[in-house]
Amino acid sequence: MADQYDIIVIGAGPGGYVAAIRASQLGLKAAIVEREHMAGICSNWGCIPTKALLRSAEIYGHMDHAKDYGLTADKFGFDIEAIVKRSRGIAGRMNDGVQFLMKRTRSISSGVRPPSPSPVKSRSRRPKRRQSNLSTQSRRQHWARAPTRPRT
Ligand SMILES: Cc1cc2nc3c(=O)[nH]c(=O)nc-3n(C[C@H](O)[C@H](O)[C@H](O)COP(=O)(O)OP(=O)(O)OC[C@H]3O[C@@H](n4cnc5c(N)ncnc54)[C@H](O)[C@@H]3O)c2cc1C
Repeated sequence: MADQYDIIVIGAGPGGYVAAIRASQLGLKAAIVEREHMAGICSNWGCIPTKALLRSAEIYGHMDHAKDYGLTADKFGFDIEAIVKRSRGIAGRMNDGVQFLMKRTRSISSGVRPPSPSPVKSRSRRPKRRQSNLSTQSRRQHWARAPTRPRT
């Protein structure tokens, strides 16, 4: 027996998870379909981890100019593995935070085909939905042949 949802959001990036959380807050039964990582590009690879890498670079720069501030930092260097590990750790914590916020939303790990009037296809099951929301933005998508539904 297929599950029944008021809304199914495709793509669990910032566009998708915010929509799904809001739908749940408004009392809708929401599901979110994600084919890779919960929280999308921003938390896993984009905004958050890159800023963590930049922060390491920024601190390195300050250390390089320590003398200008009356400080001594004669011997300093960097450990790229530790820098990347820190960045991945921050991304992981963000991911956990989003998972927590999604506790009222059914999360389905799967890729889906372009939207059609029939239920969204996922590998595990075929949820039925009254509305769907496409939030798959950061990377180029091939939705060109997706059928459009007339407005009612
Ligand atoms: C290196 C980098 C740095 C960035 N830095 C910043 C920044 O500092 N500030 C800022 O505001 N923005 C930044 N961005 C942009 C930001 O990441 C995007 O604007 C944001 O992620 C878009 O959110 P989204 O939910 O629309 O898409 P995404 O985050 O791309 O999420 C879409 C999700 O949909 C999933 N998906 C796609 N197709 C399917 C499918 N068919 N079935 C199931 N799931 C699917 C994907 O796996 C993905 O998880 C950065 C981006 C990059 C790449």
